[in-house]
Amino acid sequence: MNRNRHIGIMGGTFDPIHVGHLLAANTALDACALDEVWFIPTNVPPLKEGVQGAAAELRLRLVRLAIADEPRFKAVAIELARGGVSYSIDTVRELESRNPDCSFYYIIGSDRIHDLPQWHRIEELASMVRFIGVERPGEPIDLNRLPDWLRSRVELVSMPQVGISSTDIRSRRQAGRSIRYMVTEPVYSEIVKEGLYES
Ligand code: ATP
Ligand code: MG
Repeated sequence: MNRNRHIGIMGGTFDPIHVGHLLAANTALDACALDEVWFIPTNVPPLKEGVQGAAAELRLRLVRLAIADEPRFKAVAIELARGGVSYSIDTVRELESRNPDCSFYYIIGSDRIHDLPQWHRIEELASMVRFIGVERPGEPIDLNRLPDWLRSRVELVSMPQVGISSTDIRSRRQAGRSIRYMVTEPVYSEIVKEGLYES
């Protein structure tokens, strides 16, 4: 079958999902004429989860709340369902076999772009997906740091830079400071209701 639907993959911990993620996804959707963006929360080993972060089902619920008003955004829980450590290559292989009409574009922020050569089975992954890179403040992208074969698989799109991270949101909550407008209103309400990241 022809892979004629173009799907962006937005993978992350989403602990919690914030407006930087949404703007990155929407920028890629718009600039690269994608049909949809699928948000795929990463499974986090239980030991790490307890420390400061939220449980998987809560992270997933926040993703669903954040994207509910955009029909082209979907939440896909395959990494949570698989459990254990998730490698992007396994996720993409599973997505490709389940969706023979789709081609995939992996959206990544600049903090992860320079690490791409270290990703598990990156050569195989790069033969299956193209990467769409977006810049985060303080993390300029230098594609010359990537080998040629990988650089040719990365497309950069420019977005208004958003200096928001989930780490910063968690520490603000812990310090009793406000995170309002860093996340969408439904996500904000849920975080407050659940008392998330307070300790
Ligand atoms: P943490 O601080 O917990 O690592 P994070 O804000 O980096 O959280 P992740 O879930 O780790 O969020 O990121 C998922 C993906 O979204 C990554 O590719 C990351 O580079 C990208 N991303 C996160 N925040 C931004 C942002 N503000 N602008 C652009 N891309 C972002
Ligand atoms: Mg991160």
